[in-house]
Amino acid sequence: MSESALEGGCLCGQVRWRATAAPANVRVCHCRLCQRATGGAFFARAIFRLEDFERSGETTSWSTSPRIDRHACGRCGTPMFAAPRDLPARIGVSIATCDDPGALRPDCHIWVSAKAQWLVIADGLPQFEASWSMD
Ligand SMILES: [Zn+2]
Repeated sequence: MSESALEGGCLCGQVRWRATAAPANVRVCHCRLCQRATGGAFFARAIFRLEDFERSGETTSWSTSPRIDRHACGRCGTPMFAAPRDLPARIGVSIATCDDPGALRPDCHIWVSAKAQWLVIADGLPQFEASWSMD
C-alpha cells in the first residue's frame, strides 16, 4: 500500500475513519450473520490493527454473536465496523465505505457454504467453506 492513508465514511458523513497502515487481511464473508447485518449478499471487510486506525462520529452497536459487535452510523445506519471481542486490538471495516472503493481488494471468500445461491463467484480468489480466524 502507498504511504497515503486510507480513509472512508458512512453515507451521511457523520462517521469517518482513517487507517495509516495496510490491513492485516481483506476478506469477503458470506455468512448469514453478515448478510443480515449488512442487508447485502455479503460483507467485504478489511481487518486493521487498532493502533493504525482512528475513527470519529457516533455509532450504534449491537452484538450479532458472542464474538462480534457490529457498529453502524448512528444517523444514516450504514454498517461500518465489526469488532471481534476475542481480538480487541483489531477492527473489521466495511471496504464499501472506503472513499476510494477500489483501494482495497479482497484476498479470499469465507463462509461460501452460506453464500447466496444466485451469486456466482468468478474472481479466482480462494474460497473457504467456513471461517478463518480473524487474524
Ligand atoms: Zn451516517
